[in-house]
Amino acid sequence: MNSLLLTGGRVVDPANQFDSIADVLILDGRISTIGKNLSAPKEIGCFNATGKIVCPGLIDLHVHLREPGQTSKETLATGTTAAARGGFTSVVCMPNTSPAIDTAGTVALIRERAAQQGVVNVFVAGAISKGIAGEELAPIGGLKRAGIVAITDDGHCVQNNELMRRACEYAKMFNLPVMDHCQDYSLVTDGVMHEGYWSTVLGLRGWPSAGEEVIVARDILLAELTGARVHCQHLSAAGSVALLREAKKRGVPISGEACPHHFTLTDAAVAGSEKFWATDGKSLSSLVTRHASPPEWPKYDTNFKMNPPLRAARDREAILEGLADGTIEVLCSDHAPHCDYEKEVEFDYAPFGITGLETELALALMQLVHTKQISLADMIAKFTINPARLLNLNKGTLSVGADADVTVFDPDCEWTFDKNATGSKSLNSPFYGWRLRGKAVATIVGGRRVSVERREAVAV
Ligand SMILES: [Zn+2]
Repeated sequence: MNSLLLTGGRVVDPANQFDSIADVLILDGRISTIGKNLSAPKEIGCFNATGKIVCPGLIDLHVHLREPGQTSKETLATGTTAAARGGFTSVVCMPNTSPAIDTAGTVALIRERAAQQGVVNVFVAGAISKGIAGEELAPIGGLKRAGIVAITDDGHCVQNNELMRRACEYAKMFNLPVMDHCQDYSLVTDGVMHEGYWSTVLGLRGWPSAGEEVIVARDILLAELTGARVHCQHLSAAGSVALLREAKKRGVPISGEACPHHFTLTDAAVAGSEKFWATDGKSLSSLVTRHASPPEWPKYDTNFKMNPPLRAARDREAILEGLADGTIEVLCSDHAPHCDYEKEVEFDYAPFGITGLETELALALMQLVHTKQISLADMIAKFTINPARLLNLNKGTLSVGADADVTVFDPDCEWTFDKNATGSKSLNSPFYGWRLRGKAVATIVGGRRVSVERREAVAV
């Protein structure tokens, strides 16, 4: 059944500048009508969305689904289940798999498996370079024909500027955005956390902000030189935001994204919960301690190790400011599942990355909307129409006739993120045990409800 009537919700559709209490009628997988007091034929199901937000299906353009080759971490089935639980109707999977997604055959394989096993839409990003080795371009035209929506070497970064220039030129020919994981290897070397006070105190090798900023600057110059659309992934440093802001003023076709961990946590978290709540966590504690004592974790907890790393409080502020003033248009998770045995090692040896699909909506609401940094419509735009426009996806709106991908969420529902209730195959999140505010209650893909969770009772 791909028809449904959603009644009484606050419908927020930034692409059409619509924000009003209304009903949404979905017929045969498409948006049919939006208006007051709609009625539907008897055989069509009804969902009472009173008190909830009804918006275009959320899109996460930065997700690691780990297929092919790394199915012990995640699969198309488990990753898309996590996405649906988080309120996401579309995800873009990254190509740093095993083998990398650098041939048309691998793209075809993923699209076929996603159609069979995925519970939400899966779009594929292809590699910039063969094997993500940064040495030779992948067959970008063939990848485009096979259906990719962007190119990226995410997890890695093309160091050779000339190769990156050619990648931009090809991408422009094929009207594909180039997404870049900004990391200069010569500056970062084997850094494992942000280079600063806490890396010194903890005795861990530093990953300096400049290691990101240098590549953001390079990407701005190449976007300007080639006219290709370049998108900087998971921005973490204040300097990156300043560079992007300045370049956008000049009309350079550059854009950026931010992940909730970078605008919620800081490097103090690597020193353990006690240090974090006593310092950079102070501004958050009013949110997370509403009904519980603050979450606890030890120092050197590898669930706080990601790439780029958690940075200083001023970087977190700069990311929030960049989101507020529109410099950063896209919100995403960088959902990066890893097995327990991989993460349960010394900090130096653990892989970078955390899961994020199930917590990103709540964290974005808590850090951006509930704190009045940005409006609800702005936040929704960063999860819907903005990524859709960047990737030329025919998604992200509730326009009449559009695919009926719809997310219904309760912005005020309080819940605790529980290890036993996750949809992902992996458990490497720093946010287990956190009391979060805001939760998806229905995820509708092509008119079908794919994941509905009962609202939890609020425990005090
Ligand atoms: Zn990355």
